Amino acid sequence: MCSRRPSRAKYHDWNAPIAAAKTTEKNEPGEVVLKMDNLKKYYQVAANALFGSSGEMKVVKANETLTFEARESETLAIVGESGCGKSTFAKVLMGLETATEGKILLGGKEIQNTPIESRDTRTVADVQMVFQNPFDTLNPSMTVGRQIIRALEIFKFGANDNERRQRMLELLDLVKLPRAFAERMPRQLSGGQKQRVGIARAFAGGAKIVVADEPVSALDVSVQAAVTDLLMDIQREEKTTLLFISHDLSIVRYLSDRVMVMYLGHVVEMGSTDQVFAPPYHPYTEALLSAVPIADTSIEKEHIVLEGDIPSAMNPPSGCPFQTRCRWKSEVGGGLCDKEVPPIRTLADGHQIKCHLADDVLDRMGPVIKIAAE
Ligand code: ADP
Ligand code: MG
Repeated sequence: MCSRRPSRAKYHDWNAPIAAAKTTEKNEPGEVVLKMDNLKKYYQVAANALFGSSGEMKVVKANETLTFEARESETLAIVGESGCGKSTFAKVLMGLETATEGKILLGGKEIQNTPIESRDTRTVADVQMVFQNPFDTLNPSMTVGRQIIRALEIFKFGANDNERRQRMLELLDLVKLPRAFAERMPRQLSGGQKQRVGIARAFAGGAKIVVADEPVSALDVSVQAAVTDLLMDIQREEKTTLLFISHDLSIVRYLSDRVMVMYLGHVVEMGSTDQVFAPPYHPYTEALLSAVPIADTSIEKEHIVLEGDIPSAMNPPSGCPFQTRCRWKSEVGGGLCDKEVPPIRTLADGHQIKCHLADDVLDRMGPVIKIAAE
């Protein structure tokens, strides 16, 4: 079905320099299309749901001050353990939830308080999502063609049914599905084919921003690379801003321009892919890198054990969110890590970390992943 041989191996080649992994057609990032400014999303939950309703409410701090920008044509990867708030910010961006505080600017327009049903057609078409599980997002009783046409109708694309039908067929071409698939029902499709339909719908209205939330993690390993490559090809072609949520750091290293690392609702590190994958790192990034599975025996990896579980977003630690698991904490004097949320520091142009460690300590940080000299 897909003409290229999907190869997962290339994603996992840590010997390959980061820039070389990119295809030559890679676009330069353009102007800023999305700006998040101190975005907060708190959920209210019943504190004692199990033991009757005392009326007491607890707050889940799913997103605690997210600030970042994303540019046209760039792929920004968002990484972090389960529960750190990745899907929450995607939902607020999509208008499936509204913000508690802060701003989301889409081309200068504030959208953080406008739920999807109140958004104008252009905004809905401009911010689209590819969901983790394509099985949940397709209507089981509608043909593939009909689902895509339905999306085009929502985006008010085309002057008539003929134009929409034509565009639907072109979208099937775009995601490399045979046009005959227009008549098929979702149950007749494999997981990878369903996700291609999900991608066709997301890009149907010329989206400026596509959020892909773990887009291949529910798929068979054998088709993951082909679907990821397809997504990247379309992103390049359409100059879309792709927010790629993933916990697979080897894929992230391969496909992203920039990386944002999240921990307990905070952005703890942000930078170009080269910056984030080389020391100095945020201590959390260092631990994440140490957990990347690498088969290549010429590569040495430092083993860093992350003590304990991720704390609850209902009861986050005082001070730095990472202080309960940080192996560098003793390098910081005065109990600062327990007391104060670290400021955002700039280490290099475009490279920021949220950490109290002094510069000389950061300078001592070696690489977690060492490629043996030949
Ligand atoms: P991720 O996508 O990084 O795994 P999520 O954004 O799904 O994380 O969740 C972040 C935190 O917010 C978690 O502690 C999760 O339990 C909580 N959370 C997510 N959605 C809700 C909700 N609708 N109500 C209450 N808590 C929620
Ligand atoms: Mg999630």
